[in-house]
This record gives sequence, structure tokens and C-alpha cells, in this order.
Amino acid sequence: MPENSVQIREGIRAVLETFQHTPKAHVQSFGCQLNFCDGEKYKGILQDLGYELTDTPEDADVILFNACAVRAHAESRVIGRLGALKPIKERNPRLVVGLCGCMAEEEEVRALLRKSYPFVKLILGAGAMERLPESLLAVYSGEKRYETLAFAGLPDETLPTVRDSSFQASVPVMYGCNNFCTYCIVPYVRGRERSRQPEAIEQEVRGLIQQGVHEILLLGQNVNSYGRGLETEINFPSLLRRLDAIPGDYFIRFMSSHPKDATPELIDTMLSSEHIEHHLHLPVQCGSNAVLKAMNRNYTVEKYMELIDYARAKASDFGFSSDLIVGFPTETDEDFEGTMRLIETVKYDNLYTFIYSPRAGTPAAKMPFASTQEQIAARMKRLLERQREISEAFNARFLGQRVRMLAEKRDPETGLLLGKTRHGLVLETPGTEQDIGRLLDVEVTGVRNWSLYGEIR
Ligand code: SAM
Ligand code: SF4
Repeated sequence: MPENSVQIREGIRAVLETFQHTPKAHVQSFGCQLNFCDGEKYKGILQDLGYELTDTPEDADVILFNACAVRAHAESRVIGRLGALKPIKERNPRLVVGLCGCMAEEEEVRALLRKSYPFVKLILGAGAMERLPESLLAVYSGEKRYETLAFAGLPDETLPTVRDSSFQASVPVMYGCNNFCTYCIVPYVRGRERSRQPEAIEQEVRGLIQQGVHEILLLGQNVNSYGRGLETEINFPSLLRRLDAIPGDYFIRFMSSHPKDATPELIDTMLSSEHIEHHLHLPVQCGSNAVLKAMNRNYTVEKYMELIDYARAKASDFGFSSDLIVGFPTETDEDFEGTMRLIETVKYDNLYTFIYSPRAGTPAAKMPFASTQEQIAARMKRLLERQREISEAFNARFLGQRVRMLAEKRDPETGLLLGKTRHGLVLETPGTEQDIGRLLDVEVTGVRNWSLYGEIR
């Protein structure tokens, strides 16, 4: 195997030249935004190696599934879809099938693939993008299977990227997580926290804005830890101020913010900025202090509420959204009532709700369940029904206002344009195909369950 990247590329090109057709690659990402962002780099590398990208796996010579490990149900779906590739592989023996992303980090998944899915030849751990060329060449050179674990550093800043959108872009500011919430597999599969250099982030964001991107989504498992371990003295609010100073017509969003590290300085920075949305995704996970302790979240409901109250005292229309886990092993009916009280008090615009999924190797996976699955399902139903009413009532604060929205796509059923406002709310409006990708001024004339309705003015 050549060690040098030029030799590796030449080796792959020599193989691709023997194909009787244009070599094609299909990359499919699952899970969180960070995975989609990694997927754009996998696409960039494949295109750079000479593959044409295709949305159709049946046409592809390389298929990469870039999958997420956070919940078991999503993993089973990926395994099912990998199984469905078997007939395609039988028709095209040169097809290379690979699994990458944090799901590929799990030893159980690797063992299953080795045993039951021998046609999956590439297994690349989370963030191991740089290894893709050498792994492909290894497989083309006859290696039975190429496996690698996570790349613990930062991805090479010069990796090519094929962006999925011309007007929205995700930009990772940090990788990994140090928090070890007892239910979560992320720290085991994505390694410890490491931050990108502020200059590299600023250069990337500046370039995107110059290309006409209107929405920058900054990503990290806990963006509020940004800067720890860097030589430069910098924290997340100061990074935000630095990016906000870039001239242009755009919004900045970010996720996720761990409540233990979110500060009034963060809120002040958001409110005094020109471009940062007035909405914070602040995942609380549950509204019971006993469960928060068992989850190792390192804050209490009271501490969490302090930041919400601080923001709302400064801007009463400030929006919050959250992740909530229902059915954590120790959760009782009484704990769940705490969650119901919390959603009444905060008035979230939006909730991302998950039924707890045990993940092997995490401390919570060994905890006995205090509730039955029926009780947990009933709690989830109640939570969603009530939250729908709360969102609708609170969304009414925008009725009659003129707001800016980035039109992202057209709803295939209603034909309406869909986009998000500076407060992170989904807004629907009649408009044309040409409006997609534009920032529009819209007057809010109606409120739906989770969204607003308006007319372009
Ligand atoms: N780092 C982010 C944070 O702490 O807010 C979240 C990253 S995690 C990929 C996204 C969400 O998945 C979490 O906020 C949590 O609600 C959910 N999650 C993580 N592990 C889970 C599990 N084992 N079962 C159900 N939901 C889980
Ligand atoms: Fe998982 Fe907690 Fe880290 Fe978020 S902060 S990625 S929930 S361990």
C-alpha cells in the first residue's frame, strides 16, 4: 500500500480508468447535523478522487452510509438499509459498500457486519474522513475488509467539501464531548472535546457569506465549551462576536448548548448582535432534579430557569427549544410531572422529544426501569399534545409583525414556501420557486401548531 496521498490518488484513478463508465458514488447521511456535515466532506473527497455523485444507490460504484449511534432504533433502520444493498452488490461485484460515522465506532456493529454483512468492506470510524482514499485503494487492491477507528484530532482544514445547499451551510466549531451524560454514547464514539482555530472558522464563514450563503449553522456537541484547550484565549461568545462582525446578509444559528455552560454573556451577545438568531436551543432533557442528577447533567431545573428568565427579562419574545428524553430508567410519574411543569413555565417554541434508548456501555443501560413502556408511551403522548398547544399560543406573539425568513424549500403538499425566522420559527408563505434561498420580509397573519403563516410584503 502506498503511504503517500498522491500515490493513493493515482492508484485509485488507475482503477477507475478501467471502468467502462463514469464512476459514481452515493453518500447517505443519517442522524444529527454534524453527521450531515461530515457527509459533505465524504462527498467532497469522493468527487475529488474522480467519482460523480449520485442520489441513486443502484447507479453507484461506491456507497457510503454515514450513520448515527445515538439511538438504537435509527441504527436498526440503517442495518436494514445496508441489507437491502445486497442485491445491488450481487449485480455489480465491483461495488464498494462502506459504513462510516459514529455508528461504525461500535464494536457490536462491527462484529455484526463482519458476521452477517461480509459485502460491507469499509468501516470508517467517526471523523475518519482522511482515511477514505487509502481505504478505497486497499479494497480495490484486494484487501478483504478495511476498518479504522475514530480520528482523534481535528479534520484536515483543506478537505474538499460538497455542500448540500447553496444558501445554508453548517460549520463545525468543535468536535467530541467531555460530558458523559449517563444515557449518551457520543463521548465514547466521538472522543474528547477539541476546538477548531478561530481563524479557520472565521475564514470558512467569510468565504461562505461571500458565496451568498444566508444561514450559517455553527455545530458542536457543546458549543459553550468552545475554546477550551486552545492557546488563544477565546470563548464561544467571543467567537460569535467575531463572526457577527463579518459584513453581509445572513443569520447565524448554533447548536447545541449545554445548560451547565450557557451564560448570560451568551444571551447578551445574541441580543446585541446583528446576525445571530434570537433563539436558543437549550436541551434540558427532563424537568426533575433527581433524574437530571442520574443523567449526570450537572445543573438543576432552578439553575436552568435562571438563564431562561434572564433572556426573557431582556427580550420577552426570545425563543427557546429543547431536547427532552422521556422514560429515562429512573423516571417516575412524579419526575415526569416536573417535565410537564417545566414546559408550561418555559413555553418552548419547539421540542425534540426522544423515548430513552439504552446504549450498551453507558451507565444508564445498567439501571433498572422504574416505569413500564406503556407508561412511558403515554407520557410521550401527553407531552406532545400539551406542547402543541403551548407552541401555538406562544407563537401568537408574532401575529401582525413583519419578520425576516430564509425560504428553504416548497412544501410538496401545500406548495407553500417553508423557512425559518430569526427566532428559529418555521414560517409558511405563498411564494415562487425563485424565492427559494432568498431572505424575505413576511407579515405574520396566522399561527399553526408548530409554525407561523404569513404573506410576503
Ligand atoms: N450534545 C447535545 C446536548 O447535550 O444537548 C446533544 C447531542 S445528542 C446527539 C442529541 C440528543 O439526543 C440529546 O440531547 C438527547 O436528548 C438525545 N439522546 C442522546 N442519547 C439518547 C438516548 N440514549 N436515548 C434517547 N435520546 C438520546
Ligand atoms: Fe451526549 Fe451529554 Fe455530550 Fe450531549 S453533552 S453529546 S447528551 S454526553
